[in-house]
Amino acid sequence: MTPARAQIVVLERPASFTGTFPVVSDLINLAYFRADGDSGMWVGSSDNADLQEYLPKPDGFDETTGAQAVSDARRKASLRFEGMEEGDKGGVQRTFSGLYETTPDWQPILDSFGSTLHVAVGFSGHGFKLAPVVGEAMAARALGQPDPFDISIFTLPRFAEERPIRSSYPYLRAKFLR
Ligand SMILES: Cc1cc2nc3c(=O)[nH]c(=O)nc-3n(C[C@H](O)[C@H](O)[C@H](O)COP(=O)(O)OP(=O)(O)OC[C@H]3O[C@@H](n4cnc5c(N)ncnc54)[C@H](O)[C@@H]3O)c2cc1C
Repeated sequence: MTPARAQIVVLERPASFTGTFPVVSDLINLAYFRADGDSGMWVGSSDNADLQEYLPKPDGFDETTGAQAVSDARRKASLRFEGMEEGDKGGVQRTFSGLYETTPDWQPILDSFGSTLHVAVGFSGHGFKLAPVVGEAMAARALGQPDPFDISIFTLPRFAEERPIRSSYPYLRAKFLR
């Protein structure tokens, strides 16, 4: 697995746009958005080109966010949400960077080694959304029960055997990200 740095920008929303809203994945403008508190909008990039900063040594990585990421976030938010042009004036609430732990096909490894070691790692920046089903599958493994559904495509040997997981309907610029 390889760590990749992901930059997040939380923008101020206008007064007319408070409260929660559903997560939005915008594969036209290559960004995703979600509510941050009552007045913020978390903006992350879905552009594979923005996530090419692979870090062989993740310790002490740069947790700040660059000016380009901030201006991209503002532009993408204003393209997708009415009123975020106004929000642009309000500015940036906070920024930070985190690490995605990526596998070669940007999908997790779900596998068992013997009857007692069960591994769920390498979520490649989308582990939260998968957590409910992964939890169910790995809990069954830990209890020695049959898999509740087929997770065999996620096994580790897929890389050595050159069977990476690929979407049937890929978004070209997002590449492995979706
Ligand atoms: C900036 C950012 C934005 C993201 N946005 C989204 C999103 O919108 N949607 C989504 O689905 N996913 C998102 N993700 C991905 C999601 O956060 C991860 O896929 C998920 O947290 C991975 O879960 P995990 O349990 O595998 O690993 P982690 O959450 O990293 O948990 C591993 C735990 O192990 C602990 N640990 C490490 N080493 C040791 C050790 N030696 N001994 C004991 N404990 C140890 C760590 O402290 C940590 O608590 C995002 C990630 C980042 C960085």
